[in-house]
Amino acid sequence: MMMAGLRRSVLDVSKQLEELGLTRGTSGNVSARLSDGFLVTPSAVPYDELSAADLVVVESDGRIRRGPRMRRPSSEWRMHASILRSRPDVGAIVHAHPSWATALSCLRRDIPAFHYMVAVAGGTVIRCASYATFGTQELADACVAALGPRDACLLANHGIVACGRSPEAALALAVEVEALAGQYMRALSVGDPVLLDDAEMDRVLGGFEDYRGGTG
Ligand code: 13P
Ligand code: ZN
Repeated sequence: MMMAGLRRSVLDVSKQLEELGLTRGTSGNVSARLSDGFLVTPSAVPYDELSAADLVVVESDGRIRRGPRMRRPSSEWRMHASILRSRPDVGAIVHAHPSWATALSCLRRDIPAFHYMVAVAGGTVIRCASYATFGTQELADACVAALGPRDACLLANHGIVACGRSPEAALALAVEVEALAGQYMRALSVGDPVLLDDAEMDRVLGGFEDYRGGTG
């Protein structure tokens, strides 16, 4: 996608984050890969005030190119940079503080295979990263470790990260993760959810490939 299209996409997805109730105020951030770096939302700008002129480019060598409004990049730019560096398959990242998933992250619990849709993130579990202060390289490293080859994780006492080929795909996954966290918390509140075993989750993961490929 051309730079202008990608800017529009990052902006639209950022605004939808708040409209969908996945985050509020200035929490959360969105990025998209460029050929020589990435585009990221600015730090501490409320979503309803955000315009394309606020977006920031972080070049591959870490140099920051501020937009016309001279905004600072998201305080989590190191996390976005580290994910994009370690996962060439990822084109865009959404970070948010949605209520259910954030509550679960405060218990520092993974989302296990309590529902087959856990496979939507590309594995049999959605892990919770170990705790680190927001905006640090330590948090970036913990996030990359919790993601592994999967496309989503929780950040302890903080929120979630969801990845995709596009900002829209990353947002769609963030919506799914928040729904799963809500279902898991409700199930936990009345008992011990029955977990699907690895053999079943392998079938589901295979089924997802067919489903997405349109051959299922
Ligand atoms: P920014 O406004 O700097 O993107 O920070 C929001 C956030 O969620 C930090 O974790
Ligand atoms: Zn955050």
